[in-house]
Amino acid sequence: MNAIQLYKKLPGKNCGECNVNTCMAFAMSVLQGLSELSACPYLPEKEASTLQASVRRSDWRERLIRALRQEVKNISFKDIAEDIGAELRDNMLILKCLGREFSIMPEGDIHTQGHMTPWVQILLLHYIRIHGKAKLSDRWTSYSELKSGMVKASSFARDCEEPLRALLDNSTDAVASILRRLGASHRDSFPAPFAWHLYLLPRIPVMILYWPQDDEFDSKVKILFDSTADIFLDAEAIIFLLEGLVKNIEIQLRVMSRS
Ligand code: SF4
Repeated sequence: MNAIQLYKKLPGKNCGECNVNTCMAFAMSVLQGLSELSACPYLPEKEASTLQASVRRSDWRERLIRALRQEVKNISFKDIAEDIGAELRDNMLILKCLGREFSIMPEGDIHTQGHMTPWVQILLLHYIRIHGKAKLSDRWTSYSELKSGMVKASSFARDCEEPLRALLDNSTDAVASILRRLGASHRDSFPAPFAWHLYLLPRIPVMILYWPQDDEFDSKVKILFDSTADIFLDAEAIIFLLEGLVKNIEIQLRVMSRS
C-alpha cells in the first residue's frame, strides 16, 4: 500500500488531531512506522485496525522485526544484560530508550506503556542483537568519526542535526524543557551556550550542542557521541535513533502548542 492509497481511506479533515498536520502527512507517517492509524480519532476503530493490519503485512519493517526477534531469541539475556546497561527482571530485559521503559521478552516481544512504533522496536532489537561490550570512554566524538560515519555524515546532518536546529530556533525554551523531561542535564564544560547531556539508550549518551543565531553567525547544532557508540549500534541505526529523538520532540511540541 502506498501513501496515496492509504490517504484515500482517511477522513480527509486535515485537522491535525493525530499529531500530524494533514491526512497526507499522517498517511506517510503511518507508512514510515512513526504513527499508528488508531491516532486518528475519526477513523472507526474496526476500520483502523483492519487497515493497520494490512499496512503491517506490506511493511518491510514488520518483516525486519520478525527477523530480528528470531536472532534475539538465541541470545542469553543473562549474559548480556549488564554489558548493554539493561536490568534483568523475571527473564525479561528492562531497557530505557528516550526516557521510556521497555520490557523485552526472551522471545523478542516488546512491551511498554502506551503506543510503540516499529522504529523503536527495530532499534531495541538491534541494540540487543549487537549487544556491544565496552566501558564508556567519556571522549566525545562527531558522527563522522564513528565507524562508517563518514559515508553517512551528510544524511546525519540533513536528517538529524538540521531538523533539531530548526526546532531549537523556533522554540528554544520548549525544546529545552522537553529534553529535560527526557532526562537531559545541562553541561557547562562545552564551548556552546547550550549543551545537553542525554542518554538515548543506556550505552548511547549524546551531547547536544546548540549555538543560537547571532550578529555574525547562523545558528548551529552539533551532536556528539561517546567514542564507543559504534560498538553498540551501527552508523545507520544511530541516525534512526536520532531521527526518533527529533520526531519525539516534534510530537511533544505539537501537544504543548494545543494545551
Ligand atoms: S486526525 Fe484523522 S482526519 Fe485529522 S488530520 Fe489526522 S488523519 Fe486526518
